[in-house]
Amino acid sequence: MPKKINILGVNVDSLTMREAVRQVEQYMDEKAGVLVATANAEMLMRATYDQELKDILNAAALVVPDGAGTVWAAHHLGHAMPERVAGYDLAQELMREAPARGYRIYFFGSAPGVADKAKAKAEKLYPGIQVVGTRNGYFGPEDEPEIIADIQAAKPDLLLCALGVPKQEKWLKKYQQELGVPVSIGVGGTFDVMAGVMKRAPRWMQKAKLEWLFRGMMQPKRAGRLMALPKFVFKVHHFKHEHNR
Ligand code: UDP
Repeated sequence: MPKKINILGVNVDSLTMREAVRQVEQYMDEKAGVLVATANAEMLMRATYDQELKDILNAAALVVPDGAGTVWAAHHLGHAMPERVAGYDLAQELMREAPARGYRIYFFGSAPGVADKAKAKAEKLYPGIQVVGTRNGYFGPEDEPEIIADIQAAKPDLLLCALGVPKQEKWLKKYQQELGVPVSIGVGGTFDVMAGVMKRAPRWMQKAKLEWLFRGMMQPKRAGRLMALPKFVFKVHHFKHEHNR
């Protein structure tokens, strides 16, 4: 079992991409019925004032370090954190291995049409992949029984859910038992990137750990959210001193 590291009250797993993929596959094989979360700085910041989200994360089977901010925080707090395990990359790795292992995947979330485009992309990138259902992420409470029934009928091993943070985590938690899916993961903008609606940062920016800056620049509505990063740095620094007293 990977080591858990307390970052601002959320226990984040210290593990490599390879280990994360293995662990998720094991949960699928065991039909474990678990939630996996991908924690970036913004999510960890939100958990400091959103107790429901914090509880969901601390009850999750796996919380992977999504983003340079999370890895930095672990290091700053004096812990080993081998690498960043971005939700987008984790989803791609799982899809890459899915055909050979026969895993069934359901794409839930994002704007109408996007999950279908992401499915077409997945079928091109990962021949033989079984994307057993798609459903957009814009719905009212009255639509939920039908969405749940569709997911149940599709019998996926893996449910990728892109409703944004924290909606996806809360929705998955609420219906975890009812859905009975072996593994569910909140994957944010993954289908948008796969469908080409949104671009991922160029490689050099990812390597320079600047993906957060790229995302802020590309989506002006997110620009305000960039402030979460400096706030996160201060919070982690204070957290460290409180814990060392
Ligand atoms: N989204 C959705 N339903 C909603 C709100 C958002 O399906 O009610 C989708 C949105 O279309 C996008 C994804 O959730 O594809 C992630 O959105 P965003 O990038 O804002 O979220 P975050 O980065 O916080 O995960």
